Amino acid sequence: MRRMRLKTILTLIFALMVALTVLMVSICSGIFINRQFEEYVKESQQRAASELAESIGSNYEETHGGFNIDYVHGMGMYALREGFIIRLYDKDMNPLWDAENHDMERCHEVMDGIMLRMKEKKPELKGEFVTYSYDLKSGEKLNGVLEISYYTPFYLNENEFQFIQALNRILAIVGIVSTVLAAFLGLVIAARITSPISGVITATRKISEGDYNVRVDVSPKVQETYELSDAVNTMAGTLKEQEYLRKQMTADIAHELRTPVTNISSYIEMMIEDIMEPTRDRLKSCYDELLRLSGLITDLERLETAESKEIVLEKEDINLYSLSESILQGFSKGLHDKKITSRLEGYEVHVLADKGRIGQVVSNLLSNAIKYTDENGSINILVEKDMNNAVLVVEDTGIGISKEDQMRVFERFYRTDKSRTRKTGGAGIGLTITKAIVQAHGGTIRCESEPGEGSKFIVTLPLDDNKS
Ligand code: ADP
Repeated sequence: MRRMRLKTILTLIFALMVALTVLMVSICSGIFINRQFEEYVKESQQRAASELAESIGSNYEETHGGFNIDYVHGMGMYALREGFIIRLYDKDMNPLWDAENHDMERCHEVMDGIMLRMKEKKPELKGEFVTYSYDLKSGEKLNGVLEISYYTPFYLNENEFQFIQALNRILAIVGIVSTVLAAFLGLVIAARITSPISGVITATRKISEGDYNVRVDVSPKVQETYELSDAVNTMAGTLKEQEYLRKQMTADIAHELRTPVTNISSYIEMMIEDIMEPTRDRLKSCYDELLRLSGLITDLERLETAESKEIVLEKEDINLYSLSESILQGFSKGLHDKKITSRLEGYEVHVLADKGRIGQVVSNLLSNAIKYTDENGSINILVEKDMNNAVLVVEDTGIGISKEDQMRVFERFYRTDKSRTRKTGGAGIGLTITKAIVQAHGGTIRCESEPGEGSKFIVTLPLDDNKS
C-alpha cells in the first residue's frame, strides 16, 4: 500500500482548509458586494429619473404657460446618453417633445446597446425597457406629464461593468495568493512538526540496530514531539544501561564460576597426577568450592524465579515479628563471630504472605547487615505498622552506602565495591531477589544510609486485613 507522508498530508490539509475558507469568504463577499453595488446602481437610476422629472417640471414657466422646449431638448439629449428616453406631454397629453421622434436612430442605438450588453453580461436579470410616468405639477396644478423609459431593474454602463470585473478579479487573485501562501505556510509548519518525528524514526532504527548512543534533539517546541523525543532518548538510555548490565552479568557469572572451577580442577588434577595426597582437608576444600558453585547456581535460579512475572506465592497469615525473631536466632553464630550486638523491637504484625519468601527477605537483609558491618557493631530489627502497611526495618552500624549507590543496590549484580566480592562472597543478587519478592507481595523496599555510619533497609508489606 502506498503511504502518504505526514508532511504531505498536513500541508494538503492546511492548504485545503485555507483555500476553502478563502473561497467561501471570496464567494460570500463577492456576492454581497455585487448585490450591494447593483442595489446602489438601481437606486441611483431611480433617483436620476426622479431628478430628471423634477428638473424638467421646475422648468415650466407660468407666465408663458409652457415648458422651455430648448431646455427640454438639452435635457432629453443628455438623458439619452445616460440611457433614459424621455417623452414630454402637456396636461392634455399632447406630445411636446419626444426623444424617439427627435432622433430615432440614436434612441434605438442607445436602447439596443444597453439591451445587448445586459443580455450578454447579465442574462439572469431578464430586464427590459419599462416606461414610468411622472406628473409635472406646480402645487396642485398639473402642468404636464413626463414619460421616462429605461432598462429595468437596472443597467450597467461600460465603466460599471469594468468595476465589477476588476473587483471579482481582485477577489480571485486574493484567493489564489492566499492558497499558495497557505500551502507554503503549511509546508513550513508540517516540516517543523514532522522533522522531529523523522529524527525519532532515524534514532529508533539505529537503536534497533544496537546503537544505544544515539540521541534525538529534544528542542522541538511542540509538546508531544518534545515528549516523543525525550521518551526515545530515555528508552535509548535504559537500553544502554540494560545492555551494560547484561554484559556485566555475563562477566560476573563467568568471574564467579572461574575461581571455584579452577581451584577444584587444579586440586583434582594434582591428586590424579599423584602430586598431592587426597587428604580429608583437601577434599573438604574442594567440597567448599563446590558448595560455593552450587550456592551461586541457586542464587541465579532464585533470581530467575523472583524476576519472572509468574512468581507463585503461597500466601498464609504470618506474624512478621515472630518470623524475624526466629530468623535472627538462626544468625546468632554469625553475629557472635563478628561480636555484633542485635536487637528486635516492635510488636506483632500480621501479613498475608508467602512465609518462605518473606523469610528470605528478612534473611537477605540480615545477612547483608552482618556482612557489611564491622566487628563490635550493632544491628536493629524493627517490626511495626503504619496506616495500611506492615513495616520491617533492618538497621546496621556498618560501612553504609553512598547516595548514588542507594538507588542501584537493587539492580542485578550491582555491588558498591567490586573488589570486596571475593571476601564477602556476595554476587550482587540478594537485594534484587529481595526487591522482586517484596514487589510481588505488593510492597515496597527502600534504603536510607550514610556512608561510614550505617544503613537502614525499610520494607513495607500490605497488612493482613483479617488479623490487624
Ligand atoms: P551481595 O551478595 O553482594 O551482598 P546484594 O544484592 O545483597 O548483593 O547487595 C548489593 C550490594 O549492596 C552489596 O554488594 C553491597 O555493596 C551493598 N549492600 C547491601 N546491603 C548493605 C548494607 N547493609 N550495608 C552496606 N552495603 C550494603
